[in-house]
Amino acid sequence: LSSKSNVLIEKENKYGAHNYHPLPVVLERGEGVYVWDVDGKKYYDFLSAYSAVNQGHCHPKIVKAMVDQAQTLTLTSRAFYNDKLGNYEEFVTKFFGFDKVLPMNTGAEAVETAIKLCRKWAYEVKGVAEHEAQIIVCENNFHGRTTTIISFSNDESARKNFGPYTAGFIKIEYDNLDALEKVLESSKNIAGFLVEPIQGEAGVYVPSEGYLAKAKALCEKHNVLFIADEVQTGIARTGKLLAVHHENVQPDILILGKAISGGVYPVSAVLCNDVIMNVIKPGQHGSTFGGNPVAAAVAIAALEVVRDENLSENAERLGTILRNGLNDIAKRNNLITLVRGKGLLNAIVINCDEESDLAWEICLRFRDYGLLAKPTHGNKIRLAPPLVITEDQIKDCLEIIEKALNDFKS
Ligand code: PMP
Repeated sequence: LSSKSNVLIEKENKYGAHNYHPLPVVLERGEGVYVWDVDGKKYYDFLSAYSAVNQGHCHPKIVKAMVDQAQTLTLTSRAFYNDKLGNYEEFVTKFFGFDKVLPMNTGAEAVETAIKLCRKWAYEVKGVAEHEAQIIVCENNFHGRTTTIISFSNDESARKNFGPYTAGFIKIEYDNLDALEKVLESSKNIAGFLVEPIQGEAGVYVPSEGYLAKAKALCEKHNVLFIADEVQTGIARTGKLLAVHHENVQPDILILGKAISGGVYPVSAVLCNDVIMNVIKPGQHGSTFGGNPVAAAVAIAALEVVRDENLSENAERLGTILRNGLNDIAKRNNLITLVRGKGLLNAIVINCDEESDLAWEICLRFRDYGLLAKPTHGNKIRLAPPLVITEDQIKDCLEIIEKALNDFKS
């Protein structure tokens, strides 16, 4: 690393909380699938800010929407109406096929919003006795880092010494319909089933075909809300606008974040029908920044880019090319034991244990060769480039990946 990079990293280490473990590279510019570090070195971005930058870095249309709006009106809070919000709300609800939206800023806030909506619906519509509502969640989930959300995390390091925890969650095995059915039948107090259509942070774990559709049907049968957290999987990432669309599922509550703004500005959203959304009355939920005019303008532009540049189709087509290429590499290099994913949300599993530092070492080598990716575990590396990547660029990246892996071949 250059001395310039080291000085900046040391500053962060000295003055910033150590709540992340970043790969040592200091970025200062991005365009499309590329980012550049402070020394001008160019990299392919294979993380996309955890699937936030689906439209590519600094997409000119999205940036223009932000800058134009920032020069006009940035924030009024929801104490007043603003001229952008209603248009955005109409656009986003029609785009995803729901009656109503509740705008927030981050993914975790949107998950919290969905939990509140689901609980209130259970008490006021379903008739569950107060304080008795339960929400089913899955093993190895990741939904964010708030106190309530970590209450039902499996990640011991994320939970330990942050208690007491929020009650009202039942954890079942992911991708297990029998487990779901058993819990649904066990109690009249089940309000919702909160699920990631593909578990991203768990190492891009894709459930069996039919799981989501059958889970949705089971929820319907028991009058339980199917809540899809598409913060990471949504907005064309997996080759469809939403990952649930692979199984023609329309969730009761949809949670979006990250790429709804193309990573240009923090925007998240919760969508559902009138009956569910109407349980929330003035003063019961909100955020100073949620629904601000910059967020509204940015999200419309970001979703238009997804539609106009056919990003779902591109993710589907290039994801297949990427996985085929990775599987070919796996035949020549037995360091890769498994390639999995959908669209451009993928992971390789490395031939070592979960506590190993091999995946980290490989990511450092990727970086040296001009590609940035991050392990989800000691033996898994997520590969999720912006969806604007081209076939030639994917081929170039496959060469980088193979060259780096060959350095570790025994
Ligand atoms: N849900 C899922 C499925 C996620 O992947 C993430 C972030 N990785 C979140 C929620 C939390 O989003 P945020 O970091 O914006 O709070």
